[in-house]
Amino acid sequence: MNFDRFDIEKVRADFPILGLQVSGKPLVYLDNAASSQMPQAVIDRIVQYQTAEHSNIHRAVHYLSELATREYEAARVKVQHFLTAHESREIIFTRGTTEAINLVMHGYGRAFIGKGDEIILSGLEHHANIVPWQMLAQEKGAILRVIPMNDAGELLIDEFEALFNEKTKFLALTHVSNALGTVNPVKKMIAFAHRHGVPVLLDGAQAAPHQPVDVQDLDCDFYAFSGHKLCGPTGIGVLYGKAKLLEKMQPFQGGGDMILSVTFEKTTYNVIPSKFEAGTPPIMAAIALGAAIDYLNSIGLANIEAYEKQLLDYATGEVSALNGVRIIGTAAKKAAVLSFEIKGVHPHDVGTILNDDGIAIRTGHHCAQPVMQRFHVPATARASFAFYNTRREIDKLVEGIRKVQEMFS
Ligand SMILES: *Cc1c(COP(=O)(O)O)cnc(C)c1O
Repeated sequence: MNFDRFDIEKVRADFPILGLQVSGKPLVYLDNAASSQMPQAVIDRIVQYQTAEHSNIHRAVHYLSELATREYEAARVKVQHFLTAHESREIIFTRGTTEAINLVMHGYGRAFIGKGDEIILSGLEHHANIVPWQMLAQEKGAILRVIPMNDAGELLIDEFEALFNEKTKFLALTHVSNALGTVNPVKKMIAFAHRHGVPVLLDGAQAAPHQPVDVQDLDCDFYAFSGHKLCGPTGIGVLYGKAKLLEKMQPFQGGGDMILSVTFEKTTYNVIPSKFEAGTPPIMAAIALGAAIDYLNSIGLANIEAYEKQLLDYATGEVSALNGVRIIGTAAKKAAVLSFEIKGVHPHDVGTILNDDGIAIRTGHHCAQPVMQRFHVPATARASFAFYNTRREIDKLVEGIRKVQEMFS
């Protein structure tokens, strides 16, 4: 592939798992929107931590506890810079995007959203950014309003603006759709919401791994992402929140570390970010996420974005040239996701047959059933790319789709 800003073979060599054989064929890993793979540098960082640094943090004065605490807090600063956040105390470690959104629902939503209030979501949301708000709406008697989309999978901005009224209290919006790849015009939407005094949470699970994110430039109030989609481990995620908002929010979980003092009469909560990190956090995973961020920075998010755009353009061209294949999600601005259906073949069969050739894609509703309903499909096949994928792998995907079509013809 004609791309001179990084050497793709050198990048691939950083990922031991890409050398696997599956079904006797070289693995073609195109399920990066579900979880991405981990480079050796991150694996090494985990081994280093577990062999020479592990202890509980914020607890003791001994060598290991101080070392682990320092590395954990250093990871927080790496995330701060990664998101261009103003302060490191605006970064809260969670288990993932799902927990980050639930934290905002409990900490902000339950305190500041009440009966008859309205929460705006989009039709593109992952279940993680629907269900918590539905639970809140049920508890409080609040109402969910949904931004519709066109047939390309782009949100209808006029209809979005028309949803706002004096009852609107919150906007929860995905930055990039995991099911279709649509990149939403979030900066403009946030500015509009703010003109109505409405705070905004962005679900960045599919954006943070694929493009530079600057939360101060976006001016979002909250931003959530997961480590395991960003070349890091599972069990770690991030919630960014503006300090002013985090400070006035209720704690999410109660326990150790989130308190300053406890008596049976009264507990005084700790300052942020500790207020939201009850109990022993995933220390190793946070430190490994820091290493993943170092690795991505060494390649450059802008380079990753440009390279993945070439991959997506190539794949879109090749797949749309096939008869009997429909691409679902054709927004003008897309990230590295290609959802499609093959006429007359259930997506599950597509996934199974591709697996026989070592090709990993996702099939199903992608935790976004409302998107499937909008496009009148029960499920799609989804290939999702990362910066370590190649044009040759896309050729194999296309060959695989042809083979499926032959088997069902
Ligand atoms: C994966 C994903 C989530 C959920 O992330 P978890 O890591 O499972 O918590 C939420 N939103 C989007 C857009 C996603 O792609």
